[in-house]
Parts: sequence; structure tokens; C-alpha cells
Amino acid sequence: MIIGVLKEPAGETRVSLLPEAVASLQKKGHEIWVESGAGISAYADDDSYTAVGAKIVEGSAFKEAHLMLSIHPPGFPLVAGQILIGSFQPLSYPTFVQKMVTEGVTCFSLDMLPRTTRAQSMDVLSSQANIAGYKAVLLAAHTHSRYFPMFMTAAGSIAPAKILILGAGVAGLQAIATARRLGAVVEVFDTRPAVKEEVVSLGAKFVEVEGAADASKAGGYAVEQDEAFRLRQQEKIAASVKKADIVITTAQIPGKKAPVLVTSEMIHSMKPGSVIVDLAAGTGGNTTLTLDKQMVVENGVRIFGDSNLAAGMPSDASKLYGKNVTNFIELISGANGQVNLNWADDLVKGCCITHEHAIVHDRLKS
Ligand code: NAD
Repeated sequence: MIIGVLKEPAGETRVSLLPEAVASLQKKGHEIWVESGAGISAYADDDSYTAVGAKIVEGSAFKEAHLMLSIHPPGFPLVAGQILIGSFQPLSYPTFVQKMVTEGVTCFSLDMLPRTTRAQSMDVLSSQANIAGYKAVLLAAHTHSRYFPMFMTAAGSIAPAKILILGAGVAGLQAIATARRLGAVVEVFDTRPAVKEEVVSLGAKFVEVEGAADASKAGGYAVEQDEAFRLRQQEKIAASVKKADIVITTAQIPGKKAPVLVTSEMIHSMKPGSVIVDLAAGTGGNTTLTLDKQMVVENGVRIFGDSNLAAGMPSDASKLYGKNVTNFIELISGANGQVNLNWADDLVKGCCITHEHAIVHDRLKS
């Protein structure tokens, strides 16, 4: 097959396949075509792709490609029957889904993969959220006006930074681990009691709120909470926010607006110089003041909204994303190296959103 690697839109630094991943696809008999400049922001120039045998093309050449890789939606129309693999958040972008139907593209959105053990090696949400959690702590450490670790020096003692992390999914757990490595004292909230053990094993304190809605049938994801729980949680979060030097928020509910967990009243209770990093900014944010891709200053507290912190580490983010997509190509390929879709496979069915001019994903049909 001819596999195309698309150039991402302005502002995205990652690329869906680095030169180091080209050989593994060539070994399966595929030819790799890369849109000129696609890897430049991830420190992979055109020459580094040609050096490993990939061909550099302009976007118009992709009408001959069989399968295309990207992170964001392509900037040009595709041809009926082509396969597109990326991370398109189709629940939030119905017009993109409709475009794929009109163009007759077989479109796979890897962010829709079921969160099962078999899917782990293809799970782009996990590989990228892990980076985002790590970068969130580094951003906070870089911009905070105080130390993270405790110090006893001749010039006086420094108390360790107090960090509050809201949401202990993939990003939250990595944020806990990174903050602990830097010597901070960490408190954590999550609506899923199942994460308590992991939080505690990372050396953080898990703050429990009684009566969370049962999420056991939500495939490992959170579900929306009722008003009574929300009020109990707000009261406890308010007390923790007031003590915190840094708040990192990661709470999301797939396909829904992010829950507002930190009110402006809570932000006003924080010490000037404190920092909030909101990773849920792309779905509305976990604070009332968050703006995506912007820093807001309120009462001396800096609030960084960033839904794509993984792009701040483009080399490793692209490397892991590329591994996720090559694993997925392997999954959908038959013995002859051609795509052979098995609709009985829950991973294929779970992330294919459009096929032969129709929406095929159950969650997108209603
Ligand atoms: P996510 O990004 O959807 O949400 C982040 C966290 O926010 C979650 O832990 C969620 O419970 C929490 N949250 C939601 N609403 C909240 C609220 N009101 N207050 C506090 N916290 C709230 O989650 P994710 O990182 O994508 O992971 C979701 C689940 O999937 C986790 O259990 C994770 O372990 C699991 N997972 C499984 C696999 C796999 O087996 N392939 C891969 C990745 C993740």
C-alpha cells in the first residue's frame, strides 16, 4: 500500500509518523509518502525521511495513496475508498464526521478505541495524556514563584510545594508521579474510587467524597455526577484549593463538557503567585476562568489552559503516536499486507467512524 503522512495544521508541532518508524512499515511491503514539511516541527526534516527511503510529495499527490496518517483532520478533500487514521474527536466535531461520509472515506479515530488491555499499544489518548501530565507539572514548576522540594538551608527553611491534582486518569497519574519526584506534597480528587490505590502507591493523598455515581459500566471512564455529589465535592475541593500552591486539573467526561470543579471564588482564595494548569481546557476547562491555549491572570494566580501540552514535547509525542498508528495498521492488515477489515473485532468496530459513505460508529449515529 501507499501510506501517506500528512502535514498537520499550523500550531501543531507533532507528526503522525517519524522517520524512525518508516522501516517497520516498509518491511511489510508499504511505500511511505510524506507531505513536504510534515515533520519539521518535530525535528524531522524532509531529508531525514528521504534518508530512510520515504518519498516527499505535495498534498495533491495523496489522491493516489491508499491509507493516510494524521493527527488532525486533513486540509484537503480525500478520495472515496481511501483510509484515514488519526485522532479526530468525532463526538465533538460532527461536521468533520459528515465530511468523511460525503467523501466516502473509511475513517478511524484512535481516540475512540475501547480502553481495553488489547488496545493499549494503539491508545493515542494514553500516550499523549501521559506526556501532558508530565509537561503540566514542569510548566507549573517553571512558572511558580517558589520551590517544589523542601529545603533546610543556612538562609532559612523552604516548605515543600502543595499540589492539588483533580482527576487521576492517565494524565493525572503521571502528574502525581512527576510532582512527587520533584519533592512536592500531593493531594488528589477523582470520582472513581478505583484509582485510590494507584494514587496512594505514588505517594499522594486521595481525598474521598462519598456517594459518587457508579461508573463501573462506563468502560473505565467517569460519568456525570448528581447535584448533591457536586456540592459535597465542591466543599472539599474548596478547602484543598485554598491550601494549594499549584492546581493541575485533568477531569474529563468523554463526549461531554468538562466538569467545572474550581470556581472563581476558589481561585480568589489562593495565594498570589500560585499556578493552575488546566488540561481539560479543550472541552471547556475545569475552572470557570480557563481559556484554551491562553494564560489568564486573576488575583495574582496564573491559569494556563492547554488541551495539547503533548505538542510541547513533539519528538517523544510523535514517536509514541507513530508507534500507536503502526500497531493499528498491523491490526487491520491481512496476511498479504493489504487492509482487511474484521468488523467482528471490537477494536476495529470501536474506532471506525465512517465507511462507504455512512456513519458506522454506534455512538455517532444517534
Ligand atoms: P479522562 O481523560 O477521560 O479523565 C481524567 C480523569 O478525570 C478520570 O480519572 C476521571 O475519573 C476524572 N474525572 C472525571 N470527572 C471528574 C470529577 N467531576 N471530579 C474529579 N475527577 C473527575 O480519563 P483517561 O485518563 O483517559 O482514563 C480513563 C480511564 O481509562 C482510567 O480508568 C484509565 O486507567 C483507563 N484506561 C484504560 C486503558 C486501557 O486499558 N487500554 C488505557 C488508558 C486508560
